[in-house]
Amino acid sequence: MDELVALCKRRGFIYPSSAIYGGLKGFFDFGPMGIELKNNLKRAWWQHMVYLRDDIVGLDSSTIMHPDVFQYSGHLDTFSDPLVDCKTCKGRFRADHLEKPQCPQCGSATLTEPRPFNLMMKTTLGPIDDPSALAYLRPETAQGIFVNFKHVVDSMNVKIPFGIAQIGKSYRNEITPRNFIFRVREFEQMELEFFVQPGSDDQWHSYWVEQRYQWWVKQGLDPIKLKKFNQPAEDLSHYAKATVDLLYEFPHGCEELEGIANRTDFDLGSHSKEQNELSLTAKVQENKHSVTRLAVKGDDNSWIVPYVIEPSAGVERGVLAVLHQAYTQEILGEGQTRIVLKLPFHLAPIKVAVLPLAKNNTHMVEVAQRIVKMLKKSQLGWIVLENTGSVGKSYRRHDEIGTPYCITVDFDTIGQDGNPDLWETVTLRDRDSLAQIRLPIKELVAHIRNVQEQRDDE
Ligand code: ATP
Repeated sequence: MDELVALCKRRGFIYPSSAIYGGLKGFFDFGPMGIELKNNLKRAWWQHMVYLRDDIVGLDSSTIMHPDVFQYSGHLDTFSDPLVDCKTCKGRFRADHLEKPQCPQCGSATLTEPRPFNLMMKTTLGPIDDPSALAYLRPETAQGIFVNFKHVVDSMNVKIPFGIAQIGKSYRNEITPRNFIFRVREFEQMELEFFVQPGSDDQWHSYWVEQRYQWWVKQGLDPIKLKKFNQPAEDLSHYAKATVDLLYEFPHGCEELEGIANRTDFDLGSHSKEQNELSLTAKVQENKHSVTRLAVKGDDNSWIVPYVIEPSAGVERGVLAVLHQAYTQEILGEGQTRIVLKLPFHLAPIKVAVLPLAKNNTHMVEVAQRIVKMLKKSQLGWIVLENTGSVGKSYRRHDEIGTPYCITVDFDTIGQDGNPDLWETVTLRDRDSLAQIRLPIKELVAHIRNVQEQRDDE
């Protein structure tokens, strides 16, 4: 973990938040490389969940919601972790994270009895700071989907089974944020609420567990390090009938990367209760809207409150897993080693770096610029020109940030060495195999595309 944290800081992936003021526990900032990796992971999720399917639509709801949402969702009463205080050093800890009944900070055994601590973050809205102004930052994106259920049903042509997908920030006032970006207080979730006919829910639950498992493997995670874990009944959240966690062997241990829950009709059912008719009418009868339930037409044409299957993944945990999996230290011989991030092409922040061999050779730099322009047009992703004059150093840097290809423009490329066969050709270096091949400039895009397609099919 320490090596990964150091690399993330050194190479512009992740920085501690507010570092110049001593940092803020549980918050992190994503640097120029980190934001690309994070966006690429989110894009891959959206592609898989929304664009490649016909039964899922997207949504982006607000992060602060009406306090009643969390009253009816059960979060105000039950979304808590057991908190203990150390009477000696005044440290505070999560009781279920303690290995023994002893303070992990000072070793004292004088701990208070555990008491529930609600994890929702509070804020106030408007100019008057009194209890009526109290609001909560959402602890999961899911509630934004449930309270918009009727809007989506009314405005889109959806029929169960169908899903609503959302990627966005969530906030939890974690008692002990730790393990780098694994447990933080502000994070992003990629959540799908997939609405199904009651009775078909167990089958859909298994389907989504398998889908999500395979998706993480496509993001480069080693199946040996990715495990399915059935949560025991006593650990289930207040809303869940069953939950399967996907656990990954993070540097600090095997822990939850994503949870796939069967939330039954708990949420739509509770938001349907005690609400005024207008705000909730969702049952659509032939051409006219009526009935005060968040309902849709079921298989037998009767009106039902659908059950919902929820795959819920943390973006930060995804980034950590992908980085950990990709981080490789290799011995190159003659006492030389290299660190390389073996990220899949679609996740790599920079796809290709173009390096002129001699930084002051105007002709060479111009050719490099032309190649960059051509590659940018091909929409492979982020392409950079790196004119440092030190190709060896550039290779090392790009290995560490996971750039799949480096292209070197040299004297042969510009015809200065007199070999006409090599004119307008460049060296393409593959990050993982270290193989270097000579290619005509005009074949670069097709070659990179072909290799990627082959690798994607594997
Ligand atoms: P944990 O038991 O580790 O606290 P959880 O079971 O409370 O997690 P869920 O409520 O199922 O988590 O949230 C869904 C996903 O959101 C998790 O699988 C995780 O990837 C992510 N997540 C939850 N809490 C955090 C956090 N504090 N920091 C980063 N990601 C989180």
